[in-house]
Amino acid sequence: MLSIETRSVHAGREAFSELGVHAPPIDLSTTYPLNDLAEATSSLDALAEGRRQADNPIYARLHNPTVARFERAFASLEQAGDAVAFGSGMAALTACLLAARSRGRHVVGIRPAYGGTDHLLSSGLVDVETTWVRPDAVRAALRPETALVVLETPANPTLELVSIADIVAQAGEVPVLVDSTFATPVLQRPLLHGATLVLHSATKFIGGHGDVLAGVVATGERWATELRKVRLATGGILHPLGAYLLHRGLPTLPLRVKRAQRTARLLAGRLARHRFVRRVAYPGLEACDPNGLVGTQMEGPGSMITFEVDGGYDVAATVLKEVRLITPAVSLGSVDTLIEHPAGLTHRIVPETVLRDQGISPGLLRLSIGLESASDLWLDLSTALRRAVRLCGTAARIAT
Ligand SMILES: *Cc1c(COP(=O)(O)O)cnc(C)c1O
Repeated sequence: MLSIETRSVHAGREAFSELGVHAPPIDLSTTYPLNDLAEATSSLDALAEGRRQADNPIYARLHNPTVARFERAFASLEQAGDAVAFGSGMAALTACLLAARSRGRHVVGIRPAYGGTDHLLSSGLVDVETTWVRPDAVRAALRPETALVVLETPANPTLELVSIADIVAQAGEVPVLVDSTFATPVLQRPLLHGATLVLHSATKFIGGHGDVLAGVVATGERWATELRKVRLATGGILHPLGAYLLHRGLPTLPLRVKRAQRTARLLAGRLARHRFVRRVAYPGLEACDPNGLVGTQMEGPGSMITFEVDGGYDVAATVLKEVRLITPAVSLGSVDTLIEHPAGLTHRIVPETVLRDQGISPGLLRLSIGLESASDLWLDLSTALRRAVRLCGTAARIAT
């Protein structure tokens, strides 16, 4: 097989010479002319059954060629049979849960997970009951009506790594969904470890430029068919302009991921030695990867770093005020470096006892490393840390 660098550049471009184009055409039609009613009806039936395409796209909620082209390209990166794109990561997860419900109404979820995922699974909004467990207790939590096991690795925001193969073994016949947003297909391909569904908030690294909200699920044909049926019924589709931008970003995905990872390795090491930092979570630090998953399950540790500052909430909040180059903002995986406060923002919706159990403390900050130079980033971050500790006074340094 061609390398991921080559596939990132060429995937989805197969029909270009036939189409006589060099860049992907964007089809913005919401409806399509139907000259032959019988043919249109059979196209409609095919799309309603969740087929990947039909002679006539009929209507944009049923099919869009620009979106389908991105999906084919993305499936190739994940080494999947198929992929289905949605208007957001949460729309993608909702579709997976709705599609899984034909198997039963029980889900096993592994904590920690993204705050929105935790909320969607806990809230009962999509009418599934979730049992939350640690990675070693999946088998014991299974029931005859368990429809899905949901996990995230690396997990948001603690960067804990979960062995996909181990969870798949525990789950037995039950399909496993892996949220691989933090890893991207450049560093991790969960289907090769036995997962059934790989979910990405494509808003993050896949888009990579902070200008597209999207979700994508890579899986086999059977699940993709079910997901397309849910998508056309519920309307959680991706806009073709978003699909175009996602496809446009794929060729540089391996470059972006590896470059940001190089900087993250450096900054994580420096943060770990910093006198105002209590602990650093980064999969590239030995203590954070007790099962040796970097180098086996994951090709590298990625570019997300979580660290706890001395002085708790006040110092953490002041660091957000004091950074100049780094943007204080939620989201991640962009070309620019972002910093955020999980307990106050991305995981605010998660109950406080759960936050405490997961070590998501008031002094915790999450960094998403971008493509700036490591030395410029370090100067900004270390200056902000030093100023924050000074502004908050020494009292803050001994408080928790
Ligand atoms: C952001 C995020 C999501 C949700 O994706 P949206 O595109 O914001 O809907 C899900 N999982 C993880 C790990 C995320 O970081």
